[in-house]
This record gives sequence, C-alpha cells and structure tokens, in this order.
Amino acid sequence: MKLTVVGCSGSFPSAESACSSYLVEADGFRLLLDMGNGALGELQRHCGLYDLDAIFLSHLHADHCIDMCGYFVARFYRHEGGRCGTIPVYGPEGTERRLTTAYDDVPDERSMSEVFDFRTLKTGSFEIGPFQVRTERVSHPVEAYGIRIEHGGRSLTYSGDTGVCAELGLLAGGTDLFLCEASFTHGKEDIPDLHLNGREAGECARAGNVGRLVLTHIPPWTDAEQNLADARAVYDGPAELAYAGAVYEI
Ligand SMILES: [Zn+2]
Ligand SMILES: [Zn+2]
Repeated sequence: MKLTVVGCSGSFPSAESACSSYLVEADGFRLLLDMGNGALGELQRHCGLYDLDAIFLSHLHADHCIDMCGYFVARFYRHEGGRCGTIPVYGPEGTERRLTTAYDDVPDERSMSEVFDFRTLKTGSFEIGPFQVRTERVSHPVEAYGIRIEHGGRSLTYSGDTGVCAELGLLAGGTDLFLCEASFTHGKEDIPDLHLNGREAGECARAGNVGRLVLTHIPPWTDAEQNLADARAVYDGPAELAYAGAVYEI
C-alpha cells in the first residue's frame, strides 16, 4: 500500500497544509480518506481529478468533508467527456443531505447521487476495491469512524477524530502504520470524547504495539513538536509528524 498525505492540518488549514485528506493506493485502486478544506486542490498534485475509485468520510465535520462540494462540481459539470459516473462514497448516516445542504444550490436534491454512490457506514468489516477494511465508531461529538485498511498482509489504521476510546485500540492493535490524530496538548486541553493529545496517541500506539506512529490533525495553534515529544515519551517505536506531500510505502 502507498499512503500519501494530501492534507493534515487539524480543524482549519494552515499555511503549509490543507485539512484532513489521505490517499491510499494499491493494485491501481485509489481510495481517498476524507476531503477537508483545501484538499481538492492538493489532491491534484498527486493524481488526476477523476482518478479516484472510492472515498471514505470519517465524519461530517467540515474539516473532513467540505471539499466534496467542489468535487461535486468537478464531476457533475465536467467539461470534457460529460458528467462523470458514480464512485462509492462511504460516510455516516446523512452524508448526502449534509453535502447537499452545504452546497446549497444543487439542481435538485438528488443531484449529488448522480456522481456519488453514497453508502452508509456502520461498524464492521467489508471490502473497498482490493482493500479489506474494518470500521469502528470512535469517540467524537458527532457520528465518527476510525478505519483499519489491510492489503497484502500489511495494514494502515486511521483514527479519524476521536478522544480516548477502546474502539481505537481495537483498530490499531498490531497495525503497521498508525495515522493518529493529536489535536490537543498534554496538560493543557483535557476535553473527553473530542480529541487526543500527543501523549494519548503515543499511549495507544504503545498499547497496540504498532509499527510506526504518524501524528496528524494538529491545528495551526498547537505546538506540533511538543505533541511529538509527548508521544515519544511513552512510545518507543518510530514516531513522526505528518506533513502535506509525505509518502509512505506500507
Ligand atoms: Zn477534524
Ligand atoms: Zn471532527
């Protein structure tokens, strides 16, 4: 599997990065995890606009899904070749309504379905293209999912947005690369069921004996190096900060 960080800024874009979006590729199949603010532009550095095969939306906060509105325009009003066919879009209950409302002026209320095949996420295991995936509800103010993706005996786990929860441990156990959010700062913000800090991400990585920890979704106002140090204080394996354009072969 190849993982490309399209965008990794938490909550709002930074000068260096768009919001959450990660491209996962194997066997020529392209799965995009989230499409937050600014991600659609950055995505075009890594693949063509119409090269995606499926999209997974971890939850419906704007910093994870709002560029789907622009992507609707690109697919629905495509200039050359006419309207695109549908691609699967996995998201929580209400994803179509959420995106239609955000766009505000679709030709009719089912227009998004002409280019997106919306599939409602539930906890469980299923296939997306060549990937075996497993989803779990994680701990966030809205319906939110973490995902573990397996291919060819290797695995990637993405936390989405979450506070400390057992479900995240179920997904991350023994994973090769753990892409884990670390929005908060240890000792500074402590709001349950919202986000992790660097130390908590490190503790989850240690408990799951993961192969590599990549911290992501760090907002521009948070000291990323502090979060990395906090994670390293409790997790002995390789740990680093995500950055836009980073590529991992898993
Ligand atoms: Zn977020
Ligand atoms: Zn969120």
